[in-house]
Amino acid sequence: MKAPEMIEITHVDKWYGTFQVLKDCTTQVAKGEVVVVCGPSGSGKSTLIKCVNALEPFQKGDITVDGVRVTDPKISLPKLRARVGMVFQHFELFPHLSVLDNLCLAQQKVLGRGRDEAMAKGEALLKRVDLAAHARKFPGQLSGGQQQRVAIARALAMDPIAMLFDEPTSALDPEMINEVLDVMVELAREGMTMMVVTHEMGFARKVAHRVIFMDRGEIVEDSAKDAFFNTPHSDRAQQFLSKIL
Ligand code: ADP
Ligand code: MG
Repeated sequence: MKAPEMIEITHVDKWYGTFQVLKDCTTQVAKGEVVVVCGPSGSGKSTLIKCVNALEPFQKGDITVDGVRVTDPKISLPKLRARVGMVFQHFELFPHLSVLDNLCLAQQKVLGRGRDEAMAKGEALLKRVDLAAHARKFPGQLSGGQQQRVAIARALAMDPIAMLFDEPTSALDPEMINEVLDVMVELAREGMTMMVVTHEMGFARKVAHRVIFMDRGEIVEDSAKDAFFNTPHSDRAQQFLSKIL
């Protein structure tokens, strides 16, 4: 039996002024499923995943996470964003806080955890991303790859039920890409529900269950991984793949 859907995106339309950035987007991500989102720059990938944790509003359609509508005015946005962790291209760590405090802040403020509990959780997660020795440093003292691993650990500290990644390795020097992808591969293999905007097709081949291809605000292709790579049915996806593979 198929796992229940964790994220459901149904007929979503979004405009920035008169420019329609998302056009009738519909897809689902089941519990434990890893979905890679790719497509040309400007096709709406970031906008789509930001709608999932209500970082962007949308005018039409529906998005639910674990059965809860993200546009429901009664839900708490900080709690939604704790449940659906997000990792950005440019890390977005708090520069004035130590690495460990970056991991503790929202645990204490949003989840109401005590300082000791938050620190213990933070330290365990830093160990997991191989950064235990850097807990007292500031983000600016770390490499890009290390900062991105801190950002992933910070999201995981909230015990999310799903994770969104927006081009997490595209701002990194090439030699740091794998240390971040390795953490994401491990997370995927542990069964985390993930939507990952990336052009790292090696990652997609390794752990994605499905690949979504977007172009000009539309989901042009939404296929099982092997079908996407072996027999993309749209010309646009074929062209895109021929350029990046
Ligand atoms: P992608 O992540 O696929 O590169 P985005 O979702 O960032 O695409 O952007 C999709 C389109 O929406 C682009 O044409 C971009 O210029 C436009 N856009 C993004 N953010 C805004 C904004 N805040 N206001 C107006 N247009 C925007
Ligand atoms: Mg983007």
